[in-house]
Amino acid sequence: NPSLSGRKVAVFGLAKSGVAALRLLVQHGAKVTALDARSEDALGDVAKELHAKGVTLVTGATPPGLLTRQDLVVVSPGVPLSLPELEAARTSGVPVWGEIELAGRLLTGTRFLGITGTNGKSTTTALTGELYAKADLRTFVGGNLGRPLAEAAMSPGDWDALVVELSSFQLEGIHQLKPTGAAILNLTPDHLDRYANHAEYGAAKARIFMNQDAGSDFAVVNADDAAVMGLAASARAPVYGFSLTGRPVVDAPKLAGLAIARPGGFELEFAGESYTLTNRSLRGAHNAQNAMAAALLARLGGVAKDAVQAGLDSYPGLAHRLESVRVLDGVEWVNDSKATNVDSVLVALKAFAGDVWLIAGGKGKGAPYAPMVEAGQGKVKGVLTIGQDADALARAYANDAPVHACGTLAQAVAKAREVARAGDTVLLSPACASYDQFKNFEDRGDTFKRLVGAL
Ligand code: ADP
Repeated sequence: NPSLSGRKVAVFGLAKSGVAALRLLVQHGAKVTALDARSEDALGDVAKELHAKGVTLVTGATPPGLLTRQDLVVVSPGVPLSLPELEAARTSGVPVWGEIELAGRLLTGTRFLGITGTNGKSTTTALTGELYAKADLRTFVGGNLGRPLAEAAMSPGDWDALVVELSSFQLEGIHQLKPTGAAILNLTPDHLDRYANHAEYGAAKARIFMNQDAGSDFAVVNADDAAVMGLAASARAPVYGFSLTGRPVVDAPKLAGLAIARPGGFELEFAGESYTLTNRSLRGAHNAQNAMAAALLARLGGVAKDAVQAGLDSYPGLAHRLESVRVLDGVEWVNDSKATNVDSVLVALKAFAGDVWLIAGGKGKGAPYAPMVEAGQGKVKGVLTIGQDADALARAYANDAPVHACGTLAQAVAKAREVARAGDTVLLSPACASYDQFKNFEDRGDTFKRLVGAL
């Protein structure tokens, strides 16, 4: 454990994780300086808390030399590690850690399950947490999702297992973090605004494996994803794969074991165990992948088979991700407001056999809609458009499905109530950001749930 008492530590970035790191540092008796680009007014209650704790607050540009005088700099995941002042700190020998590294150093000795990937992180993290909790282990679930890891480190004795979602930004800031189990779910181009190229993005994700121990730790990877399997080659711990097909990509490193999807469930082939997957909150092939990853993280981390099955059955799902809202007169209403891009709609449509009324539109991201039109052929009975990109969607669907221009979500829900018949599904999976009509995707999904609840 690092000795933090009396040390000069700067915390850079005062969003949720930065503030949690700061509280942890104060608890350990560090002399903390907090930095944020925002003004004291904009920081509001956070600024008040810092003053009460005796923390020095520096707002605006970083004063030259401030960071190089510290014993340690802890960085919030929103802050790019390439900033010149952080570069200067590193050059002068000041360690620069992400909040996860700081928290992780104070939590060594506790089982740590780390989960990263482009998509499915939150679902897999929440589900893995459910499986560990079913084994009566005191489980912290957080990281990039929900509570920052630094909160767990405030009371390290409270936890038997830490299930932690890790973004690539968070992984850039780790140095010694050593997950017991580390999973990479998939790797598709994303965040290329922050990474020069795909290889760099992949390299950030692969850091999840770099400190693992060949003897006691394990890696979990998507055996159907060639890019992930490329990263798995750098793993030092035994690598377990999960696959929808049972035929992992060629050139894959040798796997210690494989989970394979089967109709209605999956099996852990290496252990001779099968599991059923009937939970509505885990429908779709993508959720079968998430479930296999979670089951591997749990089984290999010591959770008993029965607890894994119980957790797969009881998992309540996350809001706004294929969330079943209501069945009314035989029509199921599903909130997939988190689907802010075309790829997510493809994943959603795959999860349904047919008879879908799709509510889509909003602030478009410029990607072509053709792939979702194609994926919906024979499945989508009609499209109810909302928001800014309604016309573009209508053009894309012109020859494939009836389009009702609804404008608002309220009108789309009313129209869907009118056209949907027993056995149909009404799916809000917008393929667009929500900012033209809502605060964020959560607000859009909550509005949908309220409207549907009032029918
Ligand atoms: P993240 O935390 O990585 O954003 P979520 O679990 O919140 O992941 O899922 C976000 C969206 O990504 C879902 O709404 C779904 O469209 C898609 N998704 C979820 N799991 C997967 C997966 N395993 N593979 C591909 N896409 C997925």
